[in-house]
Formats: sequence, C-alpha cells, structure tokens
Amino acid sequence: MKLIAGVDIGNSTTEVCIGQVNDAGNLGFLSSVSRFTTGTKGTLDNVAGIRVALEEAMEKLHMPISKLDLIRINEAAPVIGDTAMETITETIITDSSMIGHNPSTPAGAGQAVGKLIELEHLSQAKTGVPYIVAAKKSWNYEEIAKSINEGMKTFDIVGIILQADEAVLVENRLEKKIPIVDEVRNIDYVPEGKRAAIEVALPGENIRMLSNPYGIATLLELDAADTKAVTPIAKSLIGKRSAVVIRTPHGNVRENVLPAGTIFISGKEPLHRDLPAETVEVNIDAGAEAIMKKLESAGEIEDISGQPSTNVGHMLSGIKRDMGNISSESSEDIRITDILAVDTLAPVPVSGALAGETCLEKAVSIAAMVKTKQLPMEKIAYELNRQLSVPVKVAGVEAVMATLGALTTPGTTLPLAILDLGGGSTDAALIDERGQVAATHKAGAGELVSMLIQTELGLHSRTTAEEIKKYPLARVESLFHMRLESGAMHFFQDAIDPRYFGSVVLLEPHDMIKIEEDLSMEKIVQVRREAKKKVFVTNALRALREVAPENDLRKIPNIVLVGGSAWDFEIPEMLMEEFSNYRIVCGRGNIRRTEGPRNAVATGLVMSYLGEKN
Ligand code: ADP
Ligand code: MG
Repeated sequence: MKLIAGVDIGNSTTEVCIGQVNDAGNLGFLSSVSRFTTGTKGTLDNVAGIRVALEEAMEKLHMPISKLDLIRINEAAPVIGDTAMETITETIITDSSMIGHNPSTPAGAGQAVGKLIELEHLSQAKTGVPYIVAAKKSWNYEEIAKSINEGMKTFDIVGIILQADEAVLVENRLEKKIPIVDEVRNIDYVPEGKRAAIEVALPGENIRMLSNPYGIATLLELDAADTKAVTPIAKSLIGKRSAVVIRTPHGNVRENVLPAGTIFISGKEPLHRDLPAETVEVNIDAGAEAIMKKLESAGEIEDISGQPSTNVGHMLSGIKRDMGNISSESSEDIRITDILAVDTLAPVPVSGALAGETCLEKAVSIAAMVKTKQLPMEKIAYELNRQLSVPVKVAGVEAVMATLGALTTPGTTLPLAILDLGGGSTDAALIDERGQVAATHKAGAGELVSMLIQTELGLHSRTTAEEIKKYPLARVESLFHMRLESGAMHFFQDAIDPRYFGSVVLLEPHDMIKIEEDLSMEKIVQVRREAKKKVFVTNALRALREVAPENDLRKIPNIVLVGGSAWDFEIPEMLMEEFSNYRIVCGRGNIRRTEGPRNAVATGLVMSYLGEKN
C-alpha cells in the first residue's frame, strides 16, 4: 500500500490531495486541502505553503507527513509567470482653467456666482459686487456666522466656502440663507479675487448647473474653448450634492501628460511564407477590440513590448524587470507571450482639484502573461525533499493533469476540453480519444475581474472588490425585509441590526457585508457582470479556439470548468450560455464527484502515478 500526495501550485492557491494505492493497484482518495500560495508561483517561496497544506491534509488522516511515500508536484513551467495587470489611461485634463469640488454635507440650496474673498479681508470688500466668502479652519463656526451676518449689512455676500465640515452649523446661525459648500480641504489654493460659482442641490436632488458644461459656461461666462476644457470637471461633478467651480487664468493649472502608448507584438512565424516574422503595432487609444484583433492577426507570439516613455511601455518593461528579479534571468530571456486588453473606465484626477476629485475616463486594462526560460520546479522539488525527507517528483504538465482530474467529473466523455479559470490566467486543454493533449494559457482571469470592479466602482480596497465579485447583492429596505438583486423579496423573522437599514449589502453565506461606498445596487451589478463577461467570455473563446481540432469550437463536445473562478455564482452560467450557441455541453466540474471545480490538477497528479507505475 502506498500513500501518494498530489500538489498543484497555482498563482493564488496551492491544492493538495492524498491518494492511497493498494497492492492490487486500486486508487482511493483520502483527503484534500487548499491553501493560499506563498510567494510567486514557481519560486522557492512556495515551499512554506506546500508544507502547511500537506500537514493539514495528513492531519485529517491522523498521520505525519513522513508517512507519505511520494509527493508529486505539477510542472508549472514554461509559464511560471504571474500575470500583471494595470489600467492604462491618458491623462486628458490638460491646462484646465477650472477647479471643481464635491463635498457631501453642504447647507442651504441654490447657486451663486461671485468674486472670491477671504473672510479676514471682508472689511476691504466693495459695495455692489457679489462676493463668495472663503473661511479657513482656523475660524470657528460661531465667528464665521457672526462676521458674515455683520458683513451682509454692507456687502453683497452670495455664498460661502468652508474648509471645515461645518456648513450646517454656520447656516443655522445666518440671518439670510445662502448656499454653503464645506470640506474644501485645499482652501489655500482658492484664488482670492477670482470668479467662482457654487451650487448646492435641494435635499434628495443632485446639482444641475455645475455638472453641465453649459451650466458652468452660463455662470462663469465662458467661450466655446473654455467650455470644452471644463467638460471633465462637469463630468466629475455629476451626481454630487454640491460643488464649487472657480475660474482661474489659463495656465494656472498644468497637467503632465504621459501618453498611453503603442504596443508592439512580434509574431513567431511569418504571416506569409516568403516574409520574415513581422512585428505588428497597435496604439492603446484604439481600444481593447482593436488591440485583441491585432494580437490575433500576429499568430503565435514571440514577445510583446511597449513604446518607451509611455504608460504601456512602463508597464510591460516593469513586468519583465520584476520577473527577472524573481527568476534571476536577464530580462532578454523573459518574454510576454500573451496579453488581454479590456475596455474600462478609470478615475483620473482632476487637475486643480480642491479635494482630490476624479472623473471617470475611458481606459484600457491590460493583463500580461510572462514566460521565462528556466523551469524552476525542480528546485522546489529538491527543497521539499530536503525539508520533509519524502521523495518528490515533478510529474507532468499542469494542463494534462487537469484534464485527467476533470475526467472524474460524472457525465464527461472524450474528447474533453477543460477551462481552468484561475486567478491570473485562463487555461484551456483538450484531451482526445488517443490521450493527446493540446493546451494553452491566456492572460487574465479572476484577479483582473476584481481589478476592473475596483477601478470602475472607485473602491478603496481590493478586498471589497473581491467580495463584490463573489457574493450577490441586496438592498435592505426595512428592518424586516430586503430586495434581492434578482428582484425577489426576502423577509426576516426578527428585526435586523439597524445599521444595515437603507444600505446595499453583500450576501455572504452566513453574514451580510454592508457596502460603505455610495453606490446603487444596479450600478454594482452592471459593473460586476460586465467585468466577468469581458474577461472570462473573451478568454474562454480565445483559449478554446486555439486547442479545438482545426480551431473549430463545434468539434468540442463537452467543456468542464475548473479552478477557483469556476466557483463563481454567475461565470459558469455566462459561459454555458455562450457555448450553447455551439451546442457544447459546458458546466462547472465536480472532481471525484465531491470536490466541485477544485483539486483537478492535484487529483490528476495522483492518478497519473498509476499510469507511470505500470
Ligand atoms: P490559481 O490556480 O491561479 O492559483 P485558483 O484556481 O485558485 O487560481 O483561482 C483563484 C481565483 O478564484 C481568484 O481570482 C479568486 O478570486 C477566485 N475565486 C475563489 N473563490 C471564488 C468564488 N467563490 N467565487 C468567485 N471567484 C472565486
Ligand atoms: Mg490553477
């Protein structure tokens, strides 16, 4: 009798399973475990995570690791790479002559236009000129209200800008009501003597004038060119409760523009027999669809690089440098063999912003797949053996092992395609009746989805984005019921915690997570679904076309989805829908009838031991 461990080191997860082979050569599975991968996939840092996972799997059997007869790890190379992701934008707000602001707790209502004056200079104001008074934090609200009430007797004060968050406190003490905007963090940048417009919306409404370029043009008397320049500011103020826009002379605010840049794609083979292999190029500004078309036209890829001194140039050379540091290869030996470009919206800082405002601009997110020459798994095997004194074997290519494992899903037949929906990459493999396997790796998977969700919703933390990806939403409409994103109602037996009232929440299996950001349920659902589609439907089609017989999807009878992202509550459905167009059976795997889409590679590693033994 022999105890065999299969170990699959992924970008995100290290999966382990323990199988037992009896003397008659029959295989049974005893336990499986998955743990976060420690360090970059394919490096010695992985050993720590592998040990923890093995210990846990053996603990379930009440045995020490030393009882293992053999550990089999996956041949992860040649693609050891992380994928790197970045959102590439071009900062388009140049030479803006306006400054915008969007605090959330203003007071009063309406709009006002006037000349800016600091509160301490109010006594020097002129009569007959409308003024907007700016008051620093060093003034308290009582002093401010007193000075303004006094000043209003002589001067035409039409609005107030406060640095502190005290608009309501000041307003309560004013004899004449005027709009007040507060929380202007950088009040020192407010240029005295310039013309400003402020607007505060009625309760429950959004501002109308300052979120409209022509509204700003009306209030500040702008010409057509200035109106065009002010458009990003108007956009950044859409949906806000209050705003201030200041007219500053041209050139006061300047922006450094780093162009998005051009991507160079070098093909491996010439496109025509008589020609040398070509490099095609495409500008990021052309958008994701054009980039992906160019990539396809280049055939098998030798390397991808970016134009120096541009956003994409920095990104791609940065990936090669980082990978070089990890694998101690020079960056010439490190190549980028695939990218996925996805159209997205990214927050771009508004130049001259008074409180860090951003506006959403069209951008392209890129995930890249890095390939190195070295196959470092042997090093990991050596180190594991040294630490555990158990024989370790690098046994078989990840994709082949995954198909073996996937075949344990009930209802599958050959030829079988698998789609491994991981964290960094989407991998496809096809195994035919003769046991031949074709495999490919495409850049972009679960982590890219989380990144898109984070940027498009402007979330502070990646963890929130990750949770939004994983759990369905609901809006708590009373203490006794909530509306699910499907439209259905859900009632509670007992009143729930009032802090959830009125919020959008994520339905974790045993808990509700409140979304702190001010976002509607519909908006989150839309961004989430789009992100999943853009990454996984695109990549599934790309990857499967490559491994399909004669690149014809219709020649694939069934697809099994494996990997962490196959757990997703809607990605498998999206793919099922897509592939039903091709009459393909597609669904979430159920490895060994028990593991769901997890553990395919580890299972395959143990199964392949039988084949080798004979
Ligand atoms: P790898 O093989 O690259 O280590 P995994 O197969 O472990 O990757 O997949 C990791 C990805 O799966 C991550 O992006 C993670 O967010 C995603 N994931 C894990 N569980 C779920 C879930 N329940 N729903 C959606 N995505 C999930
Ligand atoms: Mg994996």
